[in-house]
Amino acid sequence: MSELNKIRNIGIMAHIDAGKTTTTERILYYTGKSHRIGEVDRGEATMDWMVQEQERGITITSAATTCYWREHQINIIDTPGHVDFTAEVERSLRVLDGTVAIFCAVGGVQPQSETVWHQADRYRIPRLAYVNKMDRVGADFFAVVKEMEVKLKTDTLILQIPIGSEGEFEGIIDLLRMQEIRWAEEDLGLTLTYSNIDESRMEEADGWRETLLDKLSAHSDTITELYLDGKDIPMEALAKTIRETTLKNVLVPVMCGSSLRNTGVQPLMDAIVDYLPAPDEVSAIMGYHAKTKKEIRVESKNSSHPLGLIFKIQTDREAGAMCYLRVYSGSFRSGSAYYNISKRKRERINRLFRMHSNKTTHVDEVGTGDIAVVVGFKLGQTGDTIGTDKYPILLEKIHFPEPVISVAIEPRTLSERKKLRETLEILGREDPTFTIKENEDTGQLIISGMGELHLDVLVTRVIDDFKVEAKIGKPQVSYRESITESVSHKETFHKTIGGKDNDADITLKVEPLPRGSGNRFENMVQDLPKNIIKAVRRGVEGAFTSGVKYGYPTMDIGASLIAADFNFITSTTLAFEAAAAMGFDSACGKAGPVLLEPIMTVDVMTPNEFVGEVIGNLNSRGGNIVHHESKPVVEHIRAMVPLSKMFGYSTSLRSVTQGRATFAMEFSHFAAVANEGSLARS
Ligand code: GDP
Ligand code: MG
Repeated sequence: MSELNKIRNIGIMAHIDAGKTTTTERILYYTGKSHRIGEVDRGEATMDWMVQEQERGITITSAATTCYWREHQINIIDTPGHVDFTAEVERSLRVLDGTVAIFCAVGGVQPQSETVWHQADRYRIPRLAYVNKMDRVGADFFAVVKEMEVKLKTDTLILQIPIGSEGEFEGIIDLLRMQEIRWAEEDLGLTLTYSNIDESRMEEADGWRETLLDKLSAHSDTITELYLDGKDIPMEALAKTIRETTLKNVLVPVMCGSSLRNTGVQPLMDAIVDYLPAPDEVSAIMGYHAKTKKEIRVESKNSSHPLGLIFKIQTDREAGAMCYLRVYSGSFRSGSAYYNISKRKRERINRLFRMHSNKTTHVDEVGTGDIAVVVGFKLGQTGDTIGTDKYPILLEKIHFPEPVISVAIEPRTLSERKKLRETLEILGREDPTFTIKENEDTGQLIISGMGELHLDVLVTRVIDDFKVEAKIGKPQVSYRESITESVSHKETFHKTIGGKDNDADITLKVEPLPRGSGNRFENMVQDLPKNIIKAVRRGVEGAFTSGVKYGYPTMDIGASLIAADFNFITSTTLAFEAAAAMGFDSACGKAGPVLLEPIMTVDVMTPNEFVGEVIGNLNSRGGNIVHHESKPVVEHIRAMVPLSKMFGYSTSLRSVTQGRATFAMEFSHFAAVANEGSLARS
């Protein structure tokens, strides 16, 4: 048994409206930490604690809530469901050890669930699946399981089957115990009743039990032997193999229920304890030494050096920045000083908290595998590693996609300008995918993010939560610039300032790098003074941000210094920096410069009768249909569309489908703009 066996860090991932909030509410209720059930529809759910979220009805923060079940501490990390917040989804996936994927028994596997599922694949996160809304008209448990198999390429393990469905949904048959379970209505499902399987359902239950044993025996000799001998297989043997196969990600146990009808939730919690991993049962996190850059496997042990990752910051008006810290090794104590390894600065923990659904509790210490909230960090930003300067290991960086959309934001009155800036900086600390820039010509503040909704949410927070009067401009696409050819260019610089010569003579080579490589500078000249190399680097890196033809940031350009004339008397860093900046621009100008724009993956789910209109509308936006699939009532259309053509899409989709279609949009890649001439920035 592992050292940290009593902790589970789990996330709940779901397509919007599948019932994540409703299910979480039940979990908190049954674990006794929440005294009543808050109904989402009345906008009072305790998890959705930001006012704005309640109004929008979606969960966008990834706060961690702690509850207890069967003497295990379960930290629920709230993963956002909307793909506009991909970075938040990634960040929460990074700190959780296992997840429960909730599917709607009617809607099944939706395009957005696919996206999140594949993200979870990338981090090899063990999963349980819960098919919710079994009481709804059109509920079909087995159809959803089939979709999981086909669309998510998952090997499922059905642990329960429903008793009836839609209006007749009564409870579940537990295929391990071979018992029926029903939930009492009077006490909101607190009481469970077990009974023998009704004769009319015996054959079906036996069949599924057979399938279950079949799948498990492929992974356990013990089960195979008992099975072949026709002997009883003890629960422990089954549970052990289910746990092993779930942790290894070879099988995904599937369960079902109706959270709204208070049916099915407790067995799901049992499964979280029984089948999802403790923090030291997942593959060790890798970090690298801040100085030597050597890669290091972090030991999940309380006796090891303290190392933790800030995965979320929420700003509280009274407490200030509340930093959610996931501890990967060692432990952290309240009142002690630590080292922010990313920022190379000392930081102090003034107070440590655990967040429950309706209260917070102080803790003195937080150990390996656990999650707590730190108050006191002054610099800590989402993604920073906290530890000690004796063991400066940086935990691997979270992968963040590039911001693709920007908008100008201005205070209503000049006196609010400072407050606006400060507010934006606070929000930037919470969310690193959100960037703030000042337009040098106009002095306007420009904020950039992942999508229209992302910026919309941020702007609403500025205005409503921070009470800053601000107005915003039209959203603009964030373009990039790059090159298509390799070119070498010689640049000379000469200027006499105050009677002193400043000379530089360099040859730069620029070349296109594969998409996603980023910009890179490299010095190839031997024996150049360090400060000169640094000056060239500064010049080139400055030029990366200011573009080639239009002033957009460049991407995927490799620049190397291949020759330089250095003279002890007249060569200055000023001259080399200037030559590098000018040389880079001239070289790129000759290297087939291109303007790149973000291309989005757009998934539309529409009733069949509007397919023609939806496709026509996407085509008129320069969209390229890449996938089209018919389901009994809805069709799924996937297209690649330039972001610049997607403004106002939700209104337009609503009008061509009478409001009956839904869509999701996610950044895919950057591609050359088709008609560059018409886009040149004025
Ligand atoms: P989330 O967006 O995934 O957090 O989903 P919510 O929990 O907010 O639920 C979305 C809607 O589905 C709400 O109107 C819920 O009342 C409803 N809902 C959730 N679970 C069930 C269920 O088991 N059965 C039915 N019929 N409705 C449900
Ligand atoms: Mg929700």
